[in-house]
Amino acid sequence: MALIVQKFGGTSVGTVERIEQVAEKVKKFRDGGDDIVVVVSAMSGETNRLIDLAKQISEQPVPRELDVMVSTGEQVTIALLAMALIKRGVPAVSYTGNQVRILTDSAHTKARILQIDAQRIQRDIKAGRVVVVAGFQGVDEKGNITTLGRGGSDTTGVALAAALKADECQIYTDVDGVYTTDPRVVAKAQRLDKITFEEMLEMASLGSKVLQIRAVEFAGKYSVPLRVLHSFQEGPGTLITLDEEESMEQPIISGIAFNRDEAKLTIRGVPDTPGVAFKILGPISAANVEVDMIVQNVAHDNTTDFTFTVHRNDYNNALQVLQGIAAEMGAREVIGDTNIAKVSIVGVGMRSHAGVASRMFEALAKENINIQMISTSEIKVSVVIEEKYLELAVRALHTAFELDAPAGNTAE
Ligand code: ASP
Ligand code: MG
Repeated sequence: MALIVQKFGGTSVGTVERIEQVAEKVKKFRDGGDDIVVVVSAMSGETNRLIDLAKQISEQPVPRELDVMVSTGEQVTIALLAMALIKRGVPAVSYTGNQVRILTDSAHTKARILQIDAQRIQRDIKAGRVVVVAGFQGVDEKGNITTLGRGGSDTTGVALAAALKADECQIYTDVDGVYTTDPRVVAKAQRLDKITFEEMLEMASLGSKVLQIRAVEFAGKYSVPLRVLHSFQEGPGTLITLDEEESMEQPIISGIAFNRDEAKLTIRGVPDTPGVAFKILGPISAANVEVDMIVQNVAHDNTTDFTFTVHRNDYNNALQVLQGIAAEMGAREVIGDTNIAKVSIVGVGMRSHAGVASRMFEALAKENINIQMISTSEIKVSVVIEEKYLELAVRALHTAFELDAPAGNTAE
């Protein structure tokens, strides 16, 4: 008999019919002998609808009051699901974050979970009840309602699984697992049976939006086995685990991630002296702009070029700051480029294999795709290329690293 935390996202509880379907599913597990704690999101579109209401009152709603309001979305779904379970003869009880006591800090709209009181839930489980908990919300020390940021129900699920020492945290959603890459770009993308937390973090932070990043971090930190599954289709989903042992048999690369959200900035002809990187990036970070890739060229004539990437939303801001720095330093010029994309190959298998990067560069060269920047880590190689070649690059790499599904075995 296992204790399982099951989290259902907004589309899975988007209508009353779907809530009834979720109840059927939960009942099946429980009839099989498992103890179940369910975490639900608000009905799909509801959180957006609520935020929009607030914006009609004020462009910048007071965060405390915004949390009071958006937390109601989940309060509706927990009650509906509990009703649907009870109707089926399954004893169930719903709790808001405050009632469980999911204690968070006071950072409204992006609060962090500090502690969860598992006792109340454990008592209910012992009494044979299915416990339905509102995702996305908590309460601070002073009793104010808080929320965890968009997509925060994933984090609620994982945090509850950790607090209850659950055997597995299952995230039910509208895809049947984590894929080798976005199936909309590569039709031959395949569902992965398994992926490590480290890989999942890279895939998620690079734009595979199946799971909230914080939830993955949390699960890794507390070793909570996490599984992504389709809400209404049968299947094993993708298990996200700590163990790397089987990676020997696995391909060197687990997936290909990409991101169109970055922009590139270059400052040319800066003096090649100590402290230059700091003089450039200090003011950038002081302007609250996060920098991703950084490249400094080898110097000629005692001057050098310095290039870095930022989020596209920060581009104008960063450009302005950089122009100021350039004038101060007597740099030659500042060049910006927003038509770039980042493509990364990700896999714990590359740790033990040489030549992974060169195989990547070879595949891109064959397609005549120019690489503008490169960065590497233990389990990732990323390149910046011109945005218009993004899809071609992803497809070429997917094939080069033997990730293509055999014919007939695709997402469709
Ligand atoms: N309802 C919240 C949102 O839409 C939390 C969640 O769905 O995970 O962001
Ligand atoms: Mg979600």
